[in-house]
Amino acid sequence: MPGPRGHRWWKDRTTDRRELTSMRLGRFAGIEARAHWSLLFIAFLVAQLLAVGILPAAAPGLPAAAYWLAGAASAVVFLASVLAHELAHAAIARRHDIPVERVTLWLLGGATELGHEAKTPRAEAAIAASGPITSLVLGGVFAGLAALASGAGLLTATLAWLAGVNLLLGVFNLLPAAPLDGGRLLRAALWRRYGDWTRATYASARAGSVLGALLIAWGLLQVFGGQLFGLWLALIGWFVLTAAAAERTVAAGKRLTGRTVRDLMTTPPAVAPSWWSVANFLAQADSTLVRSAVVPLVDFDGSPRSLLTMRDLQRVAPDDRDTTRLRDAARSRVPVLVLDPDTPASDVVLPLRARGGVAVVVEDARVVGTLSSVDITAAMMLAGLTDRGLTDRGLTDRGLTDRAEGPHPAGPSSTGVTEPAAGAGLTSNH
Ligand SMILES: [Zn+2]
Repeated sequence: MPGPRGHRWWKDRTTDRRELTSMRLGRFAGIEARAHWSLLFIAFLVAQLLAVGILPAAAPGLPAAAYWLAGAASAVVFLASVLAHELAHAAIARRHDIPVERVTLWLLGGATELGHEAKTPRAEAAIAASGPITSLVLGGVFAGLAALASGAGLLTATLAWLAGVNLLLGVFNLLPAAPLDGGRLLRAALWRRYGDWTRATYASARAGSVLGALLIAWGLLQVFGGQLFGLWLALIGWFVLTAAAAERTVAAGKRLTGRTVRDLMTTPPAVAPSWWSVANFLAQADSTLVRSAVVPLVDFDGSPRSLLTMRDLQRVAPDDRDTTRLRDAARSRVPVLVLDPDTPASDVVLPLRARGGVAVVVEDARVVGTLSSVDITAAMMLAGLTDRGLTDRGLTDRGLTDRAEGPHPAGPSSTGVTEPAAGAGLTSNH
């Protein structure tokens, strides 16, 4: 299941933000577990669902406090079950020598962040299967306990619910669509069959898009039928859809394996001096200066300053063009993406898209080129046609790292990909 980051996951890699939005649960076998604040909402929702709806119907005649107590206890055990699902992914990943960064629980379940992707289909399958297997086993255990406690009213009802929800977790996550665990299993199987990671990823991501769309449609039908629960389904569907799209983008980026930002960048750089007037810029603007709808501005010392969009220019009245400098016209608050020329091209696909579609390439404190989404897309399409870049199956430990984050060019980073979806439990479908 998807991580809390969805298609923007690389942004949240900064520790500060993570610490603001989540709390530490503790360490389990050396693996850090965190919970996003949205989890409190889920815990309350589960407790309420049980205390007001399910338990009074299953074991009537008790005081409301008893239902709330049982509901609250169930919510805690349920979240612990989701944590167990994630920790199983983490433990098996470790056994396959993949470092585990952390496990995070959040609104739609959990996510296990791995240092890099599995190296073999076999490892991928083992890591993916461990979570759902844990959920199914837990479901079986709770079902057994419920059978033992049969006739005990509230306790039986609570155990039966825990059994059901864990079985559902296991089964749902086995649906063969990325980014669910079943999608990982599908990818592992196809990877083994095709011998091609990228092709297998495309296929499982396509399945994810279909599943996401179906869940949204189903959820909305429920909502129109008066079932508010459908909103939840639609939310999960939207999430699966988004995560699947991000996976396709990452897979496409793998086609660029072996190529760096330097190989694809435009030189001389398509940047404009920030002190130019709008009139001057318009007089000189041509296709060598404007390579996309966004132009990075540089200061006197050559350092990137801000992004200028064509819309910014439209806002300047014709009479003011002589007196308005480009830096004053630029309204975008998105910081300029600065890249090191030796960064693997596959690493910059997603950040580029999020940061205005254009980046400035800096080497030795000098702007040496610019890179736009158009350059990347063209290179990926060409690689797709010629199959260039697929020869090593994209199996390097490359991912999006912090290197593209800061305002300064950053050197190579040793951190690998934060796999958005190596595992998850879904807190859905009660
Ligand atoms: Zn999982």
